[in-house]
Amino acid sequence: MLSETSGSAKPQIRIGQGFDVHPYDDDPARPLVLAGVRFDGEPGLRGHSDADVIAHACVDALLGAAGLGDIGGLFPDTDERWAGSDSMSLLAAAAARVAEAGWAVVNMDCTVILDRPKIAPHRDTMAGNLAVLVDAPVSVKGKRTEGVAGLAGGVQCHAVALLQQRGTERQRGTQSRAGAEMERDR
Ligand code: MG
Repeated sequence: MLSETSGSAKPQIRIGQGFDVHPYDDDPARPLVLAGVRFDGEPGLRGHSDADVIAHACVDALLGAAGLGDIGGLFPDTDERWAGSDSMSLLAAAAARVAEAGWAVVNMDCTVILDRPKIAPHRDTMAGNLAVLVDAPVSVKGKRTEGVAGLAGGVQCHAVALLQQRGTERQRGTQSRAGAEMERDR
């Protein structure tokens, strides 16, 4: 794939978008987990896995950008292997698939919509958890539902991911000597 596209005038970048929503669960013992951060005492979300909406939206953004389908195709919720799974491990697996397909993540940006808990105090921890897995800067922003009907019954997350073809990170659109050497050495 790299040899087919290197030298092309097209920029070797891809953008992907992901969205996820989970309703609150009736089980008071179920923890809320967001970007790998566990919030004890907050209402948890219903789902086949740990219902980490931020991780799930990030998986779909990555897979969408790389043209690798979506989270349901990679980790079907009919498959008991993923029951109760740590969604950050699903994100790690998706990031590995994206890397195998020849893409490096440039950055990701997430907006999580919920009224509580406040995201700002945990923003850096969440972003750091995600950044380690995708090997790129990630930002996490929280938005409140502002009383809009239908938004307060669960937690939603929107995510975008920018990918760059591996080996072209230093080319910046021109076939630089360093980039050519990176291509040759692959
Ligand atoms: Mg989900």
